[in-house]
Amino acid sequence: MLFRQLYDRESSTFTYLIADPGSHRALLVDPVLGQVERDFKLLQELNLTLCFCVETHIHADHITGTHQLQSKTGCLSIVPAQAPAACADRHLEDGEVLTLGDISLKAIATPGHTDSHNAYWVNGDHILTGDALFIRGCGRTDFQSGDAGTLYDSVTQKLFTLPDATLVYPGHDYHGLTVSTIQEERQWNPRFKGRGRNTFIEFMNALDLPDPQKMMEAVPANECCGRVDSATAR
Ligand code: FE
Repeated sequence: MLFRQLYDRESSTFTYLIADPGSHRALLVDPVLGQVERDFKLLQELNLTLCFCVETHIHADHITGTHQLQSKTGCLSIVPAQAPAACADRHLEDGEVLTLGDISLKAIATPGHTDSHNAYWVNGDHILTGDALFIRGCGRTDFQSGDAGTLYDSVTQKLFTLPDATLVYPGHDYHGLTVSTIQEERQWNPRFKGRGRNTFIEFMNALDLPDPQKMMEAVPANECCGRVDSATAR
């Protein structure tokens, strides 16, 4: 498996490029609009055919690169089940598996940051956690139908029960960290360590964070798979 972690400095977003070297077929998880040229160039240089753009959720802090990448490559767009994106070619239910040659990407429904959110378990040893779980942190739960109790259940019952050595690749990082493991997060993540469900809910509900700067443009655009023109025309 070819596995690359890519970073967008403006939104602190990680995009993941995953490819099957045998068939040269690739997918991107959470591509960012401002990085489409970078990602497209990398695909060309590595001689890869982009088959899928997969979202962990409808983002509020950046616009997805999916629509532009579809125009360039004809790839399919994939979002979690119940995500409000009618433009998507496919909605992935909890437990559904997307395969690409030797690669299997299993959707694990992990709502709470948003009400529809998937983590993706890749080949049984990498977990792309989106905004459900960060390295020593987690996504906020105060908009887009987020719910702290639901996030607590998703993380503690679904992600923390994966094998200890599973590599954790988050959707964002704000501290320069890139990868962790399930064992490490269970042991050291301060949002969950030593916090029961009610304490977690109280803590999350008291965070009082400002809205993301791009929220008003990003959410409608992402509900159109990153088509900025049709989002503004609605
Ligand atoms: Fe998010």
